[in-house]
Amino acid sequence: YEAYGTPVTNSKSQLHGVVVVLHDITGVKRLEEIRKDFVANVSHELKTPVTSLKGFAETLLNESMENQDVQRQFLEIIWKESDRLQDLVGDLLELSRIETHNFQLNLQPIDLSKIGAETERLLRKKADDKSLQFNVSSEGNKEMIGDAARIKQILLNLLTNAIAYTGEGGEVELNIYEEAEFIVCRVSDTGIGIEKQDLPRVFERFYRVDKARSRDLGGTGLGLAIVKHLLEAHEGTIEAKSKPNVGTMFTICFPKEWSGW
Ligand code: ADP
Repeated sequence: YEAYGTPVTNSKSQLHGVVVVLHDITGVKRLEEIRKDFVANVSHELKTPVTSLKGFAETLLNESMENQDVQRQFLEIIWKESDRLQDLVGDLLELSRIETHNFQLNLQPIDLSKIGAETERLLRKKADDKSLQFNVSSEGNKEMIGDAARIKQILLNLLTNAIAYTGEGGEVELNIYEEAEFIVCRVSDTGIGIEKQDLPRVFERFYRVDKARSRDLGGTGLGLAIVKHLLEAHEGTIEAKSKPNVGTMFTICFPKEWSGW
């Protein structure tokens, strides 16, 4: 609690009593903590690639390095780290726009089957490179009102994770179907899975089950936080089920007709 006290006096300036106002600031404190954690996380996430970029660039500049292979190796690291930094800054901007409600959904009649097929095209190579079985199924038109670019981003984030966290030769699937008044998109994989205690937390900003591993796989730790917000904006829901070493399934539901607009 935060307390403010004000003395109450009568006309002869004699003290009558004190008015004490107590404010319950638990919520405010908690928000402040979340904000501080977020700033600390962002700083750390930005610092790591910047330090590495600077180090490798400095070495390339200072040392008379004859070995072209090593030079190339360093340049590749610089390229990879800049790429990661670009993804991170992009995700941070997107998240900040969403959280400050500084964005508008571009609502139009869209066909989820089409968006599913576009997403498949974008990720096919990534899946092939890992010899994954990548199946997309969607029968007929799956029409709803939504923001095509944002929904594509939702599917891309979920499928990129499914591909990243599934070992060579595994399976990744996207099924789009109708169920009552909803259109359902189900992304499942036969990957490493997520422990029960971590499952509800994966939607938090920067929460990663295995930080080093996710970072190596090119993750920013913001993908699922963005997914959750974009779904909420569409009045959709997301549910996650997982078993370690068996696989993970994310199910998202969009109401075909929504009430919010
Ligand atoms: P990242 O960029 O690290 O993948 P996300 O927000 O997309 O961040 O996901 C948060 C964390 O959830 C990941 O770091 C990973 O630990 C876990 N995760 C997400 N999707 C999967 C999946 N399909 N299989 C296993 N773990 C997953």
